[in-house]
Amino acid sequence: MNGHYLEVVEAEALHRRICELGATISADYSGLNPVLVGVLKGSVPFIADLIRCIDTPHEVDFLLLTRFGSKGRVAVAMDTAISLEGRHVLLVEDIVDTGLTLSTLRRNLSVRQPESLRTVALLDKVPRRIVDVPLEYRGFEIGDEFLVGYGLDWEGRYRNLPGLWAVMQMDRLQDIHETFPAVAFGSGTT
Ligand code: 5GP
Repeated sequence: MNGHYLEVVEAEALHRRICELGATISADYSGLNPVLVGVLKGSVPFIADLIRCIDTPHEVDFLLLTRFGSKGRVAVAMDTAISLEGRHVLLVEDIVDTGLTLSTLRRNLSVRQPESLRTVALLDKVPRRIVDVPLEYRGFEIGDEFLVGYGLDWEGRYRNLPGLWAVMQMDRLQDIHETFPAVAFGSGTT
């Protein structure tokens, strides 16, 4: 830690917790052939690790959201290829913050008449929630810090970091972006 960033969950701890989630999901969805729908782009590392810890048959699909306006509104920019009607759908999200994205998404998917609709999020920013939205499975409860790594980005960067990092001074990201990835991969110094 050098005052600008701090590793809050290491890669090994992420994988351990994700496999616990995978075991729970495997038991809950046994025999139901669920569709796991990854919300692009942040959920990519999470869903890739999660499905390798799920040992009951399932399918995987993705959708991409776009944000517009100033109130965090979202629309589906790229839809799933699989029809969700009558299916057990499990949304796979990187992080739930205010809950606005997830509640919009749930509304959008509900009208497609899935047999069931649940969400697994790797991270739950509990103190920031402004919409009461169901979240059936979550990896970690976190506070109000801005996180990057393991799928989470800052201006398109840092999704590739193996662990999760809290950025303490957002205004300094411009200055540290040359050295930070090396530190996060364990090959640089602070
Ligand atoms: P919500 O609609 O719940 O407020 O926002 C969810 C979205 O906000 C996430 O999908 C993610 O794109 C973004 N977000 C929320 N908190 C963070 C964070 O700490 N780091 C990053 N990189 N994105 C975040």
